[in-house]
Amino acid sequence: MSKRDHLIWIDAQEVAAADGSTFEVENPATGEVAFEVAHGKTADIDRAVAAARRAADEGPWPQMHPRERGPILRRAAELLRARRSELADVEVRSTGRPMREMHQQVGRTADWLDFFASVAETHEDRVVPAIGNLLNYVRRVPVGVVGQITPWNHPLLITMKKVAPALAAGNTIVVKPSEVAPVAPIELGRLLNEAGVPPGVVNVVPGFGAEAGKALSEHRGIDKLDLTGGTETGRHIAAAGGRNLIPVQAELGGKAPVLVFEDVPIASAVAGATFATFVASGQSCIAGARLLVQRTRYEELLRALIDRVSSIRVGDPMDPDTQMGPLASKQQLARVMELVTSARDEGATILCGGDRLGGDIFDNGYFFAPTLIADVRQDMRIMREEVFGPVLTVQSFEDEDEAVELANDSDFGLGAAVWTNDLKRGHLVAQRIRSGSVWINDHHRVDPASPWGGFKDSGVGSENGVVAYNDYTIQQSILVNLDRGSFDWFAPEARDLRYS
Ligand code: NAD
Repeated sequence: MSKRDHLIWIDAQEVAAADGSTFEVENPATGEVAFEVAHGKTADIDRAVAAARRAADEGPWPQMHPRERGPILRRAAELLRARRSELADVEVRSTGRPMREMHQQVGRTADWLDFFASVAETHEDRVVPAIGNLLNYVRRVPVGVVGQITPWNHPLLITMKKVAPALAAGNTIVVKPSEVAPVAPIELGRLLNEAGVPPGVVNVVPGFGAEAGKALSEHRGIDKLDLTGGTETGRHIAAAGGRNLIPVQAELGGKAPVLVFEDVPIASAVAGATFATFVASGQSCIAGARLLVQRTRYEELLRALIDRVSSIRVGDPMDPDTQMGPLASKQQLARVMELVTSARDEGATILCGGDRLGGDIFDNGYFFAPTLIADVRQDMRIMREEVFGPVLTVQSFEDEDEAVELANDSDFGLGAAVWTNDLKRGHLVAQRIRSGSVWINDHHRVDPASPWGGFKDSGVGSENGVVAYNDYTIQQSILVNLDRGSFDWFAPEARDLRYS
């Protein structure tokens, strides 16, 4: 890779880490070093926050009219589309996700820039009906300097879900991408500056959670924190934000149930469940993790599912025919193996897969076989914890009530799916599920206009839509006295002069 892929992006410039150190990003399909990246630490976060603060205080970005920011974001969307293949290549080599997935995903990512450009261009302030001879208008102004901490599973898309609304609303940003896949977010910083975002507005500091992530979340120069990551990381970030009295938004873990009712054709149910679970090797916060099938069709569906899951083409993620790649890291492989082993030890039945893949091209990478597990109990670790791997548990239910009870029996509440051809049942069951998103006869759909956020331990706040833009602003209330007369509260004869 060229030198430019290695560095920290501050003030529209590439800089080495303050102490000159670097770390390696591994290609999880081959075990080879894919990128050498500057190792950002506290001093680098300090530098980035200082640049973002300067850009916030001195402008011009926060002071620009929102309609001037829109065209710059649209230009960035065009640049991103033009670099789709190059960025997809970076994503595949960092995460091991198949080219087939990443080419689609990177292309879609640009839509967030277009959407939030439109939101900025249609920004409206408000006049509120305050009583008295008073004009009270409420402005939405940028929050200021925001810290954004992102994960490795959708490196560019998730960074974009935060960067686009924050920029549209006029904030300046320090991004700390995941140490596992930091290169595409660094490239995004460069691309935004190329499109016309001024220097210092977007800064990207690659580094590790315990160093750079901690330094950013605890930094006194930050006005808002926005994390996507694991639930435990969410608790750290929320505590740090709480200490500094700044808003914290957090998109965290999930354990999505997929409910299949008896009226669904087996072929649709099998296609839906495999899509829900095995995209991204299951490394998605909304991956279908728990399949719940109505008892009358359970055996039949299971047989068809075992066939389909066993035939998923696992292999080199660069090959356009590959349907599933490796897990993203050695740690992720160890975590999936530990949870599958625990399920086995606690008495569950592995219907297919259940182990690391070996031989051929698999020996050097972190490949795990697509796995189905039956005979589970709600108290098993495999049912309580997020696996984040190509693993689907299967259970049966009698009726709607039991399906809803099982679906809601989780600390998480991010995504869920209901499969049925009965329209009323679909809506009514979806409305009873405690989950931020529920798909009916679908999965994984996400759109910049569609609210996205977790109930319960799956998060705080919501991404996407006008609400996300508003959450990147702070309200300023301006009250104009329109009384013609003068006012003197302490005049000796004054009585009941005004309402407040
Ligand atoms: P992670 O929590 O390990 O890391 C996420 C980010 O936080 C990384 O940049 C990491 O360096 C940083 N970090 C880690 N510890 C930190 C600390 N103490 N202080 C500050 N920063 C810290 O998560 P991951 O393994 O990168 O991603 C997988 C997790 O993300 C899963 O739990 C998944 O469900 C979740 N996720 C959620 C969504 C969503 O929209 N809700 C989307 C994608 C992923």
